[in-house]
Parts: sequence; structure tokens; C-alpha cells
Amino acid sequence: MPAHPLFTEEHEDLRRSLRTFVEKELAPHADEWEAEGHFPDWVFQRMGELGYLGLHFDPADGGQGGDYLTMLVLSEEMARCGSGGVSMAVSVQCEYVTPPIAKFGTEEHKAIYLRPAIKGERIGALGITEPDAGSDVAGIRTRAIRDGDEYVVNGRKTYITNGVRADFLLLVAKTDPSQRHTGISLFLVDTDTPGFHVEKRLAKVGMHSSDTAELRFEDMRVPAANLLGEEGKGFHHIMWELQGERLSAAAGACAGAQLCIDRTIEYLRERTAFGQRIADFQAVRHKLAEGQAMVDAARALTYETAWRVQLGEYPVRAITEAKLLATRVHFEVADACLQLHGGLGYMMEHWVQRSWRDSRLARIGAGADEVMLDYIAKGMGF
Ligand SMILES: Cc1cc2nc3c(=O)[nH]c(=O)nc-3n(C[C@H](O)[C@H](O)[C@H](O)COP(=O)(O)OP(=O)(O)OC[C@H]3O[C@@H](n4cnc5c(N)ncnc54)[C@H](O)[C@@H]3O)c2cc1C
Repeated sequence: MPAHPLFTEEHEDLRRSLRTFVEKELAPHADEWEAEGHFPDWVFQRMGELGYLGLHFDPADGGQGGDYLTMLVLSEEMARCGSGGVSMAVSVQCEYVTPPIAKFGTEEHKAIYLRPAIKGERIGALGITEPDAGSDVAGIRTRAIRDGDEYVVNGRKTYITNGVRADFLLLVAKTDPSQRHTGISLFLVDTDTPGFHVEKRLAKVGMHSSDTAELRFEDMRVPAANLLGEEGKGFHHIMWELQGERLSAAAGACAGAQLCIDRTIEYLRERTAFGQRIADFQAVRHKLAEGQAMVDAARALTYETAWRVQLGEYPVRAITEAKLLATRVHFEVADACLQLHGGLGYMMEHWVQRSWRDSRLARIGAGADEVMLDYIAKGMGF
């Protein structure tokens, strides 16, 4: 297929170099990393060295100075690495954790956290979700109470990607526990701070190679200088962050769904049943055609929305719709493709089962489907 008109020759050059990197350096390890439930830190270091962790960041912060669409190219190409866990961990590093530091951080924050993270030397995690509050971000209970030049943090976080291995955490906490949205602030926390505890590493249905942690903070003292953005404005700051997270999830989902379709067609062209190629059954062709139409629609919305962001708009409803649609399509397509592989699709050795398990997460993470629907309804004015 020719390149989409959204992308320039520079984007296509980036795509080619990313694809070579992903296919040569990541994909060959996917099975091993998924089986071990871990991938090595050199992935961050290598991607940092190649400039991939700072594609659309300012060169003054160590970035490549690319436009917003480079994020789409990265998310799409990472989908080819064969391990949703690796893609997710990398997204957390360069689409969840570092953009708020670039936008709201001081020069000191940038020197200590942003630049080393873009280089892949320091790994970041994002701590919003708690055992008692996930979708309802304003209901979090972790407190950060000011005491002189420090904040004293107590509380818990859960389902935190990169949480076991992270060098620092972008923490969302209540500086005014009597308030909901207006009581929230953001902090940059070194994970070797006394009082920071990794409670446990959580076992998951999919995304096996990424680490997911439950964290506990007990009288953890964080310097006041580590407040990111304005005190009490953390909810707005994190909602801004979530828009980038959701659009990158949408782009990755479309690419993941496309791969499922392409690889399934290859298989069904070879596999025969009842004396003919399975690809030639009309019911099968229709299933795949339906999947392709859904992927094309989700991708068109994702691209249009990214283009609007690139032009400086803040299209929350469109981002929410793209995230909802693309992640649903990914899971539905992966489910149909698993079905079309028959028993083979249910075998742990096969890629399609991993795609099916991994794609399920995006309908919950970064905002569950129902929360997305609520935002869309609000955007529609009711
Ligand atoms: C593998 C994994 C990685 C994750 N990584 C991170 C991370 O790095 N950092 C982080 O902070 N969080 C992370 N999360 C957490 C994720 O963002 C939350 O799980 C998600 O936001 C949902 O919150 P919850 O699990 O508390 O579900 P709840 O808020 O308890 O909701 C449960 C269900 O209730 C329904 N529901 C909720 N609200 C509404 C509503 N308004 N209307 C209708 N139905 C509703 C939905 O079906 C929802 O799925 C991760 C989660 C997983 C599973």
C-alpha cells in the first residue's frame, strides 16, 4: 500500500529504520521475553541511543525535534515487535511519563529525569491507579502532605507498568485530601527514596514481558522541588497526559489489528479444509473483509485526530473515540483471527493467542471503554 498522505518522506525514513530495528533487535526475542516474564533494560538504552525515546521532544531536552506524527510511526512499528509487553513498557516511558515532564517540568526536572529518560538511562513509571480508585482518578487516596521543604507521602498504587524496575515514578497524589479534582498534584519520585516499597509484582493474563507492580509509600519524604507543575492542578495535568496515552494506544491498536489480519490471510492461503483453501470460503473472506473495514475506519479516525493535535488542537472527544474504537477493533479482530486458526490459535506457542490476550488490556487500561463512552457523551453535550 502507498504511504498515507499524512506522512512525509522523513516519516517514512523513520518508519523504515524503526522497522529494521524492531524486526532485527526486538522481534527475535519476543518469545523468550514473554516466557521469562521480563525483557532486559538494554531495550530502553538501545532505543534511547537510537533516538527513538525522544522523537517529538525538543532537541534542547535531548529529543529529535520531530513532529507529533512521529509518535504514530513509533506506536505502529512497535506493534511489530511481537510482544505487547515491550510496546507497552516503551509507551509508558516515552508517551506517558516524559511528555508531562517536558511540558510542566523545571530545568532541574528536565536535567534529572527527562534527559536521562530520553537517553534510556533512567526508566520511568506512572502512578495513578490505586487499589480503591482507578477509573475515578479524583477518588485517589495517596496523600502528599507538606512538611517544611518536603512532602510526606503515604498510600498505595497498583497495576503500575515498569513499577518493579523503574528508577523514578511520576506520582499522582492528594495534596489536599479534603478535595477531589482540585486536591491533586504530581510529583517526581526516585524509587530509592526511603519509604518507597515495591509490594509485589503482579501476574497478568497478557503483556507478560512487562512488569506490573503494586507499590506502597510509607512516610516517604519527597523534596518540595519535586512537585511537577502547580500544586492542586495535578488532575488537569494528568488528564492532558492521558490524551497522548490514548492516542498512542489507538495507533498501536490499529497497527496490531492490521498485522493480525495480514498474518491470518497468509496462513489461510496455505491451510485447506473440505478440499479447498480456507481463505476461499466466502464466510471466511467476509469475516476478514469486515475486520479490514473496521481497522480502516479506526485508523482514519486516529490519523485525522493526530493531525488535529499536530495543528495545535486539543480534540478530547475525537481522541476518546479513537481510543475506544481502535482498541475494541483490535480485540475483535484478534478474536476473529484466533478463531480462524482453529486449535492452533489456542496453542501457547502461536502468536495469535498472545495478540488476543495482549489486546484485551487496552479496553481497560488508560480508561475503560465505559469511561470513554462517558467522556464522549459529555462531549456530545449530555
Ligand atoms: C496491565 C495493566 C497495566 C496498567 N498500567 C498502569 C500504569 O502504568 N499506571 C497506572 O496508573 N495505572 C495502570 N493501570 C490501571 C488502569 O489504568 C486501570 O485498571 C483502569 O483505569 C481501570 O481502573 P480500575 O482497574 O480501578 O477499574 P474500576 O475503576 O474499578 O472499574 C471497573 C469497571 O467498572 C466499570 N466502570 C467504571 N467506571 C464506570 C462508569 N463511569 N460508567 C460505567 N462503568 C464504569 C468499567 O467496566 C470498569 O472496567 C494498568 C492496568 C493494567 C491491567
